[in-house]
Amino acid sequence: MICNVLSIAGSDPSGGAGVQADLKTCSARATYGMAVLTALTAQNTQGVSSVHAVPADFVAEQIGMIFADIRVDAVKIGMIANAPIAEAVANALLPHCGIPIVLDPVMIAKGGAALLDVEAIDFLKTRLLPLATLLTPNLPEAAALLGEPVAGTRDAMERQAEKLRGLGPSAVLVKGGHLGGMQSPDVLVSESGITWFEAPRVPTKNTHGTGCTLSSALAAELAKGGSLEAAVATAKDYLAAAVAKAGTLSVGSGHGPVQH
Ligand code: PLP
Repeated sequence: MICNVLSIAGSDPSGGAGVQADLKTCSARATYGMAVLTALTAQNTQGVSSVHAVPADFVAEQIGMIFADIRVDAVKIGMIANAPIAEAVANALLPHCGIPIVLDPVMIAKGGAALLDVEAIDFLKTRLLPLATLLTPNLPEAAALLGEPVAGTRDAMERQAEKLRGLGPSAVLVKGGHLGGMQSPDVLVSESGITWFEAPRVPTKNTHGTGCTLSSALAAELAKGGSLEAAVATAKDYLAAAVAKAGTLSVGSGHGPVQH
């Protein structure tokens, strides 16, 4: 049977990030993708010009309608835009916390645009982190959630992953793509301990939506019932292949999307 994956995230009309990336990833990973929109953005591969958040009660209504009718095998949460939406998403998911939930704490787009209000960080920490099966911050997001400097070493990444796990998620994958060097190391901290995942860094500017793609691939694999470690390995392989194929696209002149 085909698994159903629900993305709760923002829209990227250029198709590279947000729910558009999530739905493409779900299809490519042989799952059925669904999308609850939290925000509309006006953006292209060069940047975000503005954000229009969906009213929080309408976000809750969208989630309610899905669960009232459709079996959900995994949830991915991406851009939540503001504190009322964070609260609404938490309240709507609370009765369903047996389902794997991948939380990508989207804060700032690559071009620098804020995708989350600063005051929403507290709601993200206190209301959404405890619901997450897997939290997937990059280094600046991990630092912002902890109120600490950005990790510059693997030891610091491990420490921050453990601290973040102390805030409630069952597992944390800290993504080390911002560390620099030839490798792109990610660390997974879960109840089974610490696992490092290595991938060669791919020199490319086609990185738009890589975080969205990884987190929705993770949700797809967890929906299928895979272990956390297997899901991370598969999702990272999928993302690496999608980045490698990005050159076959001709989409915009900024940070281009990956090819699913
Ligand atoms: N737009 C939306 C709706 C997103 O959800 C995200 C990331 O999660 C972005 C833009 C940012 O994408 P990137 O930083 O990869 O360019």
